[in-house]
Amino acid sequence: MLPFKLVYSDAYYLPIGDHVFPAEKYRRIRDRLIADGIADARDFLEPQPASDPDILLVHTPEYVQKLQTGTLSPREEMEMEVPYSRDLADAFWLAAGGSILAARQSLTDKVSISIGGGFHHAFPDHGEGFCMIHDVAVAIRRLQHDDQIRTAMTFDCDVHQGNGTATIFAAQHKAGSTHSVASSTLRRPEGAPRGGRMRQGHAGDVFTISLHQHNNYPLWKPPSSIDVDLPDRTDDDDYLAWVDHALSTGLEQFEPDLLCYVAGADPYKEDQLGGLNLTIEGLKQRDELVFRMAHARGIPVMVTFAGGYAQNVEDTVTIHSNTVVAAKEVFA
Ligand SMILES: [Zn+2]
Repeated sequence: MLPFKLVYSDAYYLPIGDHVFPAEKYRRIRDRLIADGIADARDFLEPQPASDPDILLVHTPEYVQKLQTGTLSPREEMEMEVPYSRDLADAFWLAAGGSILAARQSLTDKVSISIGGGFHHAFPDHGEGFCMIHDVAVAIRRLQHDDQIRTAMTFDCDVHQGNGTATIFAAQHKAGSTHSVASSTLRRPEGAPRGGRMRQGHAGDVFTISLHQHNNYPLWKPPSSIDVDLPDRTDDDDYLAWVDHALSTGLEQFEPDLLCYVAGADPYKEDQLGGLNLTIEGLKQRDELVFRMAHARGIPVMVTFAGGYAQNVEDTVTIHSNTVVAAKEVFA
């Protein structure tokens, strides 16, 4: 039995038909974890959908109403890049509920992983890049609303920049800012990893960090508190050095009550939508590094899985399953 909980539902499946996003990956990860003896049935918690008031902590009433009544414009649906249906909206409400549950669970167990979520391209008033509802932001705002946390940090390692995350939490700069650093400071780390560039912007009550491929979607990257723009074909060693540097720098500046780790599988070298050069082993080392840094500082970690579009879906399943293995090793 694991020393922490996994949050999962069969209804995490996204009904999007034949699509580059492998919607069946969630069930396959669950099956793999059980088949390999990494987890058993008692390790899983079944989430409830987020409530409409939860969703409205992040998203605008106009957008939520369009999702509930199926009245997105063709352009809005095209921008979301997944075909709207009421069932799909329900799956996103459930993913947000799963992230709330994982965040809450991590406060008692030090870590919790939702076998889903990480929809970091959703904005308050529209969806983009396969993302309708920003489950991680909803979870953060709900726990703040319940006075379970005051501050949070997002650490986003999906190959695509967390543009929705940056935008949602940028809006908080003016009201009740607890921390501020110079805008857009260009900074090269000492003993710098090769390639890459680190940009620093503002931080409010949620400090956002994104490590991503520079030459990839989204074309316009709204500033996170820390952005690391990585060159094409960045390999394991350089990537891991950047993970260490960016997270260390963030944690020197900001002490979060909760770390939200977005553990994208798409920095993988055989990803169809990514252009970095990480191996499966390198991605597991990334997960271990993030968990070790949080564990050493006593910061609870909630994990979501975000993207993963390997040529071979089994590789995506392995990468995500390894995140659970890494947590098991570090938090045992
Ligand atoms: Zn991605």
